[in-house]
Amino acid sequence: MNNVAVIGGGASGLVAAISAAQNGARVTIYESGARVGRKILSTGNGRCNMTNTNASAAYYHGGDAGFVRGAAEKFWVKDTLGFFLSLGVLTKTEQDGRVYPYSDRASSVLDALRLKIDALGVRVVTNYEVKSVKRKNNRFLIIPYRGESETADAVIVATGGRAAPDLGSKGGGYDILKGLGHTVTDTRPSLVQIKTETETVKKLKGIKITAEASIDGAKEYGEILFTDYGLSGIAIFSLTAYLDKQKTVSLDLMHEKSGEELTAMLKERARIMAQVPLESYFTGMLDKRVGQALLKSALVSPLSRLSSTLTDAETKRIADVMKKWEFKIEGTMSWNNAQTTKGGAVTSEFDRDTMESKIVSGLYASGEVFDVDGDCGGYNLQWAWSSGYIAGMSAALRKEIK
Ligand SMILES: Cc1cc2nc3c(=O)[nH]c(=O)nc-3n(C[C@H](O)[C@H](O)[C@H](O)COP(=O)(O)OP(=O)(O)OC[C@H]3O[C@@H](n4cnc5c(N)ncnc54)[C@H](O)[C@@H]3O)c2cc1C
Repeated sequence: MNNVAVIGGGASGLVAAISAAQNGARVTIYESGARVGRKILSTGNGRCNMTNTNASAAYYHGGDAGFVRGAAEKFWVKDTLGFFLSLGVLTKTEQDGRVYPYSDRASSVLDALRLKIDALGVRVVTNYEVKSVKRKNNRFLIIPYRGESETADAVIVATGGRAAPDLGSKGGGYDILKGLGHTVTDTRPSLVQIKTETETVKKLKGIKITAEASIDGAKEYGEILFTDYGLSGIAIFSLTAYLDKQKTVSLDLMHEKSGEELTAMLKERARIMAQVPLESYFTGMLDKRVGQALLKSALVSPLSRLSSTLTDAETKRIADVMKKWEFKIEGTMSWNNAQTTKGGAVTSEFDRDTMESKIVSGLYASGEVFDVDGDCGGYNLQWAWSSGYIAGMSAALRKEIK
């Protein structure tokens, strides 16, 4: 019987432990925190957006999309739903294919995983932060910062990335893998708020609009929140999955209309609102402060003028800004605000069918520690469950360390 050590008791580590135990291994989870699965409780605003019925490799980013495709062929959305049903978790599918536990409680997901871990006799060692892992006489030595080292026949590194360090994942897994000869790319926060130049956004702080945000070719339609540091909201969060070195994010406030249609509409509006000063030109159409900021960005002034004085050139400029309101990107908010990590352990150094290292036999990884990040909408947990399940099964069924 293989002794399998799972480093990290998060989403992927818990599933890895269950699948390893179900396939006959003796399993120990080493978790740095006082409890396993803390991050799961915070997911989906406490409801846990477990997966997405639309999930495919197209929703993932990283050095090699083929790596996700490998996992998708072995254990994907249907398998995940079947797995959780076997644990007693009923699910429901909402808008855009987002799947949640029927209870609307992330705690249901964690409780079910913990009940199964107990039932399978998985050993859970908490407050045990692994510093490094070494090969010793065909076995692995698990070395903690504090406490005694332990041994295992196979190791699964399921430590997560750097996002939300308060919930346990501080990037320690990268050092463990590097110590075993693996390569780790640069990392940065993803699914996070964007910092922009603040002159416009600061004045609009707290206002929510629905618009289409875009960075280069990537577009997301949905809620956008102006803040004192930049832009937030679900559409902005989702868009940061595509953020690389781009300099601007732009908003289309009427994505359903072409520039020409919008210009014609704004001219007609100037006729209807002829006797109203420009500061109220957008009243009834947009938030008043947003409307005034748009006019300023379109270089239309003073706002005390009557709407009837708008020239064709000014109307065209307003339409242009409404279709492409640009904000200079100054960065993102920090790891504390991020939902996931862009970058990580280079996937070409692992076997996509087993999650086993091609460098160190008997070493596996799963979840966010890999250079794989998904869009907003249940895709990151799907990756954690899939890669964890495959790593656990493969580690349990492996024959010998070469
Ligand atoms: C606020 C928030 C909301 C989110 N909502 C969603 C959502 O609704 N849907 C979705 O798909 N994704 C969501 N995500 C992303 C998703 O939660 C993660 O991608 C996923 O949890 C990654 O799983 P993981 O097991 O790889 O890492 P984690 O879940 O981060 O688990 C890693 C575990 O390893 C432990 N650990 C770390 N280093 C060590 C060490 N050296 N020794 C021992 N233990 C260690 C940590 O304490 C932690 O318990 C959200 C993320 C956040 C922060």
